[in-house]
Amino acid sequence: MEIKFVKTTCPKEKPDPSTLGFGHYFTDHMFMMEYDPEKGWHDQRIVPFENLSIHPASTVLHYGSEVFEGLKAYRRADGKVQLFRPMENIRRMNNSAERLCLPQIPEDMAFECLTAFVRCEQEWTPSKEGTSLYLRPFMFGNDESLGVHTVHHVTFIIIASPSGSYYKEGINPVKIMIEDQDVRAVRGGTGYAKCGGNYAASNRAGERAEKKGYSQVLWLDGVERKYIEEVGAMNVMFKIAGEIVTPKLTGSILPGITRKSCIEVLRDEGYTVNERLLSVDELERAMADGTLEEAWGCGTAAVVSPIGELSYKDEVFTVNGGKIGPVTQHLYDTLTGIQWGKTEDKYGWTVQID
Ligand SMILES: *Cc1c(COP(=O)(O)O)cnc(C)c1O
Repeated sequence: MEIKFVKTTCPKEKPDPSTLGFGHYFTDHMFMMEYDPEKGWHDQRIVPFENLSIHPASTVLHYGSEVFEGLKAYRRADGKVQLFRPMENIRRMNNSAERLCLPQIPEDMAFECLTAFVRCEQEWTPSKEGTSLYLRPFMFGNDESLGVHTVHHVTFIIIASPSGSYYKEGINPVKIMIEDQDVRAVRGGTGYAKCGGNYAASNRAGERAEKKGYSQVLWLDGVERKYIEEVGAMNVMFKIAGEIVTPKLTGSILPGITRKSCIEVLRDEGYTVNERLLSVDELERAMADGTLEEAWGCGTAAVVSPIGELSYKDEVFTVNGGKIGPVTQHLYDTLTGIQWGKTEDKYGWTVQID
């Protein structure tokens, strides 16, 4: 595979690393390629970052045919840049694409595109504590027709955004509201796919929670509104009477790579981790009788996000006195240690870009 390179003629100034925030700044270039059934994936190119020009009838604008991924490049103390479990993102993107009838990308091709792009933009990876270069691969149906049919022309793009530390003022536990009206996904739907439509469906509940002073909602299953699924756009874990519980992947839950890594680290260290159904009633009992020891969300952006307060209907419960618990802190230290290359990567999860 040949990747054409068109270098920007007006390189941008790098933003101040202390005011990055998330997703505001973009690097000088982007990776692109196209798909059609005759040629397969073709026209791989790294080009100057610029606005897209798409047909007003483009499939994605009307029927939401889109999937995406999110991962980070991390600057190590020795100056090298590395990725965390990128093959997991590539496989998940293909699973998401399969669900939306978008074409898959052969794993080795996707890996080559991603690493070539990161190599090209690596100087944009900030080095300030907690910062990273956020990578957003995505693909969308791009047929120039309003007919509802499987897509023929698909565009795949990777953009990169230098992003700030998720925790600028230390790790503060968040307030979460258990959502009992809207649902995010149903079994048989697209819950396990990382697609834009899931986010569109989540916005209303998120906005309502925010108005009431909560940072995220805890989703219940879409059929019985009984079983815990995820928190906002993160997976969720609980420590109840010594047992670590996380909802099992029933099809309506996004299979997070941070979730998977937390489970693997904890099991490796001898903790009992059960992936099972957890009802809101069981959780409510554990909150009431004090056996809920810790609760946290997990995802690439925050790594882990401790939950300090949970509300259900009209009741409000405090978790671990509103402070981060020892298991949550340990997971944060272990995963960030590996990601930023501060501790030995004994699991072989990192991929160095040279
Ligand atoms: C991306 C995402 C997650 C977290 O996945 P990671 O691979 O850990 O970043 C969890 N839930 C939803 C809905 C997501 O979109």
